Amino acid sequence: MLINTVTDPALAWQETALCAQAGPEFFFPAPGSSTREAKQLCNACEGRVACLEYALDNDERFGVWGGLSEKERERLRRVERDRA
Ligand code: SF4
Repeated sequence: MLINTVTDPALAWQETALCAQAGPEFFFPAPGSSTREAKQLCNACEGRVACLEYALDNDERFGVWGGLSEKERERLRRVERDRA
């Protein structure tokens, strides 16, 4: 979930980020709130894979990125660590 102006070609996926059209509270819900709507938007976002890779590479700890919540990203990191 990013709303910055894009200048780095590696961040081109942000140009079409659907979350830029939604409020930040949508992608950074209060603890215990549903992330379902944000994930639905991510599933329709063409930059989803690049967004998720960015979040994993930059250790983003909060919010929904690339269709995964922070807990889901942590689980993915753990699986990747266990494989290494
Ligand atoms: S995948 Fe989700 S969080 Fe990432 S840019 Fe698209 S809408 Fe935003």
